[in-house]
Amino acid sequence: HQAEEAASRLQPATTTDGHTLEIAANVNRADQVARALEQGAEGVGLMRTEFLFLERDHVPDEEEQFAVYQAMVQALGGRPLIVRTLDIGGDKQVPHLNLPVEENPFLGVRGARLCLQRDDLLMPQLRALVRAAQTGPLSIMFPMISTVDEVRQLKARLAEVQRQLGIGAAIPVGIMIEVPSAARMADRLAAHVDFFSIGTNDLTQYTLAVDRQHPQLAGMADSLHPAVLRLVADTVAGARRHGRWVGVCGGLAGEPLGAALLAGLGVQELSMSVGDLTAIKALLRRHSLAELQALAQQALDMDDGDQVRALGARLRSAPE
Ligand code: PEP
Ligand code: MG
Repeated sequence: HQAEEAASRLQPATTTDGHTLEIAANVNRADQVARALEQGAEGVGLMRTEFLFLERDHVPDEEEQFAVYQAMVQALGGRPLIVRTLDIGGDKQVPHLNLPVEENPFLGVRGARLCLQRDDLLMPQLRALVRAAQTGPLSIMFPMISTVDEVRQLKARLAEVQRQLGIGAAIPVGIMIEVPSAARMADRLAAHVDFFSIGTNDLTQYTLAVDRQHPQLAGMADSLHPAVLRLVADTVAGARRHGRWVGVCGGLAGEPLGAALLAGLGVQELSMSVGDLTAIKALLRRHSLAELQALAQQALDMDDGDQVRALGARLRSAPE
């Protein structure tokens, strides 16, 4: 088992019928990239930039941010990097930003909504990202998108920054799909962006109306619920209409059954915690895409997450 995993660590996640998924890691710091690559990551599918704000007692300025993004690009040595713009609000509060207290922070001014209200936060970050993108492959991703108009506005801000900097080269732009409205509107949103990355942590909480951190409801926040999987299917269908690719950077991508179902639903990239990479790659290599597609179709027709979990018995486990 361990020998199989070690051998396949650096091999691509190619299914037995020859379909290769891209496997990336969720990494926030350049000094964690080496370990991710050792463990088989092919790039960084999610760099959460909140940590830059959370670990300081001040807002990092453009130069400070540029240094961090450029170091990340360098550590990756030409492999892809997706940097998510600041996603503050909900469970992520930054005391030194002095944001107004809200009664329902998860439904409040969070993620893209905050960025659109605060040019003082958004513009320096976009400037740093556009400059770092000149040093290697870097894509920009916007969090918590719930409407097409937010995407239009954010892209206009990005275009303005590129004009200011005199940098015309196209930078790939993606959005997180983590709100049900975005999943259902994926065919409309896909016209405006290069890729989607599904945030199953938030998509689960918003779909099932369960606070992702609620102490009593933890069991209900089930990313394997068919309601969540159906929204993943909607997202993939919408993306395909415009030839866009779909990844998943939420926790479901790092769970064996989750990864199997996501691949079966047509997701092309899975980005996960470094500790999950080896097992997920090995699992995908033991199955055909056709098998995973059949499994995913069955999962869509179940009543709840427990019934979906029971399908996990059909997956081949690692040889002893
Ligand atoms: C998600 O919601 O699944 C996600 C990846 O974003 P975060 O966990 O940072 O909210
Ligand atoms: Mg999220």
